[in-house]
Amino acid sequence: MTTLRLILGDQLNAAHTWFRTPRADVLHVMMEVRSETDYVRHHAQKVLAMFAAMRAFATALETAGHRVRYLRIGDTDNRQSFAANLAQVAAECGATRFERMEADEWRVERLLDEAAAALGLPQGVIGSEHFLADRAELAQRFATKVPRMEFFYRDMRRRHRILLDADGGPVGGVWNFDAQNRDKWPGDPPAPDWPWRGHDLSALWDEIVAAGVQTIGTPHAGTLRWPTSRREARAGLARFIEHALPHFGTYQDAMSTRSTTLFHSGLSFALNVKLLHPREVIDAAVAAWQAGKVELANCEGFVRQILGWREFVRGVYWARMPGYATANALDAHRPLPAWYWSGDTKMACLRHAIAQSLDTGYAHHIQRLMVTGNFALLAGCDPDEVDAWYLGIYIDAFEWVEMPNTRGMSQFADGGVIASKPYAGAASYIGKQSDYCKACAYDPKRRHGASGKPACPLNSLYWDFLLRHEARFARNPRMAMPYKAWAKMAPTERAATLSQAARYLERLEAL
Ligand SMILES: Cc1cc2nc3c(=O)[nH]c(=O)nc-3n(C[C@H](O)[C@H](O)[C@H](O)COP(=O)(O)OP(=O)(O)OC[C@H]3O[C@@H](n4cnc5c(N)ncnc54)[C@H](O)[C@@H]3O)c2cc1C
Ligand code: SF4
Repeated sequence: MTTLRLILGDQLNAAHTWFRTPRADVLHVMMEVRSETDYVRHHAQKVLAMFAAMRAFATALETAGHRVRYLRIGDTDNRQSFAANLAQVAAECGATRFERMEADEWRVERLLDEAAAALGLPQGVIGSEHFLADRAELAQRFATKVPRMEFFYRDMRRRHRILLDADGGPVGGVWNFDAQNRDKWPGDPPAPDWPWRGHDLSALWDEIVAAGVQTIGTPHAGTLRWPTSRREARAGLARFIEHALPHFGTYQDAMSTRSTTLFHSGLSFALNVKLLHPREVIDAAVAAWQAGKVELANCEGFVRQILGWREFVRGVYWARMPGYATANALDAHRPLPAWYWSGDTKMACLRHAIAQSLDTGYAHHIQRLMVTGNFALLAGCDPDEVDAWYLGIYIDAFEWVEMPNTRGMSQFADGGVIASKPYAGAASYIGKQSDYCKACAYDPKRRHGASGKPACPLNSLYWDFLLRHEARFARNPRMAMPYKAWAKMAPTERAATLSQAARYLERLEAL
């Protein structure tokens, strides 16, 4: 009697019930497959980090006495899909039962259901024991109406008793310190170094290349600076808590050419592949506040991201799939400019955010939302293409978290399920939050005009976007200010702005 248990690459949760006691009648199977490397073109560092973390996890399981069958990308007997490999390994070991954890992605759940049906064995599906909210409950709660994140987050604080006072209210008297969390970073305090030292994964990279996997971005295989084990992930968490958390909230919305992460944690990859549990990350932040090392506003700002946003978007994803994947409420169909894949644009903000993403597989939230996402939104790019770009380029990109952030929060393609208004901004926003505009070929102050320093494309595109979608947004109270400002603008100024936008939209590739 052998039970075959499948462990996916983003299920590296050493604390899972499965791994408590080694069992002679259980064979764990892990596999690196082309069906996963090829459904979208991933960043080279994502493939490297995932495979390295999976291999380290398999080795740790074996060391602890578990039985593991591991299929490497280049193995000659690797049949390169979940279904084919499962059938092969089940036959090899004479499996009498198949078990798996819930997959986080809708696509993978379907693939595994099909694979399990083809195996024809009795099967069991168990939770991944990672998230703080129950998936089925969330999907049911969000099926008809999705609450605003803020209310979901308050509920999560209460349910999990996090940052509450003795009466069950929020410590500090308020739930939200966002108003204190919007500073531009002047360069001081210095931003901490990248949390991880490099791994030499050159041999693994050779295997990936030899297998013919196509990737984007720079591999940096000789010095890959992402955590590939729980020990490294824990060390990164400790460094974040000590050096960055004290300023996390204050500079949460800041962007700079002088630092990649600023005071962000860089923990999303470790969290999403489950090397870290969200509760331990939250507890570490709260403990730092309790010890007086971090102000409440900075601690709460960080907790909100994990207890609030991360759990919330997962709920939206599972409540709204599969329809969510094709939502296009703003009817956007323009192709994403080719320079999204090279960084070759004269717009300094986009050039920097894209070049950094290609180089590291990372950009922090405001770079994703207000630079790359904002441009695609203003230009009316097709959310399918925007989704594919985000799903490929970031080391932490898994559909359950990428898609609601991209289609929902950033592109408003879900018609307002996640965001109560579109995250659209012009050069004034970028200039306020970053040092990008200083080195730009465009003039952030101008709405139109090509003589001298040409007008920043974001300015005219911003107004064009608002006008294109006036019927949808003009009555939204959160959008009242810009529509009033537009109404007050001189007719000649309005006409010049819109014709500038039309000229830019005609030649997006050349911007
Ligand atoms: C267009 C777009 C696409 C995104 N795609 C992804 C993605 O594919 N994978 C991903 O993990 N995050 C995604 N995010 C959310 C967020 O940008 C990243 O989680 C964050 O930048 C990761 O960097 P960090 O670990 O330094 O985060 P920090 O700023 O240090 O935040 C701490 C943690 O909170 C969580 N978190 C923060 N914001 C969000 C959010 N909006 N949704 C869910 N979790 C959040 C992450 O786990 C993160 O590690 C996306 C955001 C946008 C706007
Ligand atoms: S001027 Fe415009 S394009 Fe240039 S960096 Fe500023 S916002 Fe970006």
